[in-house]
Amino acid sequence: MGPVADPDVAAILRRPMALVVQKYGGTSVGSLDRIRMVAERVAETYRDGHQVIVVVSAMAGETDRLLSMGWELSEQPAEREMDVLVSSGEQVSAALLAIQLNVLGVPARSLLGHQARIRTENVFRKARIRTIDGEGLRSSVDSGNVLVVAGFQGTDTYGNITTLGRGGSDTSAVAIAAAVKADVCEICTDVDGVYTTDPSVCPNARKISRISYEEMLELSSLGAKVLQIRSVELAMKHRMPLHVRSSFSNAEGTIVTDEEHLLEKVIVAGVAADKKTAKLTVRALPDHPGVVASVFEPLAEANISVDMIIQNVSREGHTDLTFTVSHEDADRAEAIAKDLVASVSAEGVGRDDSVAKVSIVGVGMRNHAGIAARMFRLLADNSINIQAISTSEIKTSCLIKAEHADKAVVILHDGFELEKNAN
Ligand code: ADP
Ligand code: ASP
Ligand code: MG
Repeated sequence: MGPVADPDVAAILRRPMALVVQKYGGTSVGSLDRIRMVAERVAETYRDGHQVIVVVSAMAGETDRLLSMGWELSEQPAEREMDVLVSSGEQVSAALLAIQLNVLGVPARSLLGHQARIRTENVFRKARIRTIDGEGLRSSVDSGNVLVVAGFQGTDTYGNITTLGRGGSDTSAVAIAAAVKADVCEICTDVDGVYTTDPSVCPNARKISRISYEEMLELSSLGAKVLQIRSVELAMKHRMPLHVRSSFSNAEGTIVTDEEHLLEKVIVAGVAADKKTAKLTVRALPDHPGVVASVFEPLAEANISVDMIIQNVSREGHTDLTFTVSHEDADRAEAIAKDLVASVSAEGVGRDDSVAKVSIVGVGMRNHAGIAARMFRLLADNSINIQAISTSEIKTSCLIKAEHADKAVVILHDGFELEKNAN
């Protein structure tokens, strides 16, 4: 029947036969017992008459373990080999789940990225998916199989294994759901939905029943790791309803859908913190046209995303330029900035890895003035200094010291009374 961005996901599963993509994250497949539980759940959906494609992450901790082995051998391991290494985690969990489904009498087949023909750009570590053989997957499902696809991986046009960035199995799941025109994509995880902020940081965090793609996109990009940002981008593009729910219960979770399906447009829907941010400052850059471009062009060429940017008012023909990048890109960004210092005759480069970005997000901010001011006041009243600010229509972000991040999340969450809004 195909996706309709229908917010009533429970109704989809009441249909006699739906095509469902279910993604299980690392904690959900973290041990053989957990894999047995997941298999039971998949088998139940299958026996209810639905068609199921499962996407799995590596077992909890496995991706980090594999990465650290590569880093232990080499300070600069070849990215191609790191992708071969790290993608093996998903191969193991996909095979184990297929084995256990067979034990339960379910005809299951595991598929690696290339077997599902998941083609990506020619980039290692954070490739984007270009195409998937949706018809092939569909015909295998139509002939009665449950497919268990290894998340997080694909192959580039040369046949190299590529990976999709941390949390990338979410994106594999949504891309597969879109390619096979699934009725719903369920993201089964270790929390029972999307919360107003990370429930492991703020005890008053409240589960949201519906959230718009746009708000979820902002929350993901601002640090809520419950969904990888690219998975939300893809879901929004294909209007694929996402159901974020617990792997351990049958309760309805959070539906990520079009804004028109929201019951109520709250001003602030959620708070997020990104602690994996580094701040770089190029000091005393000559202030003339083209200098800023000469800083950011090589960063763009190196595929480094720059986030906040501040250029100070010029003093005696010189200015400081501050910008933030993710921790994983900070070494490369610093090296590029240092190379540049000589060529544009700037003074030097400063770096601070102990910063965090806290943000408030909500579609209702479009029509309400004074929300940012209230955020600044809440931080100020708690002696938290703001180092940089960025805004969009539906979010305001402040760069602060990393050590204050968790406290700031709680202050903002409670200050905007997010535990009270019913949506
Ligand atoms: P998985 O392994 O299933 O992919 P992740 O660890 O990637 O799970 O994401 C789930 C985690 O995201 C939760 O355990 C929670 O701590 C964190 N998280 C951060 N922000 C939020 C939020 N707003 N709502 C729910 N979970 C969040
Ligand atoms: N295993 C990968 C990671 O830990 C991908 C994922 O879990 O989504 O980032
Ligand atoms: Mg994840």
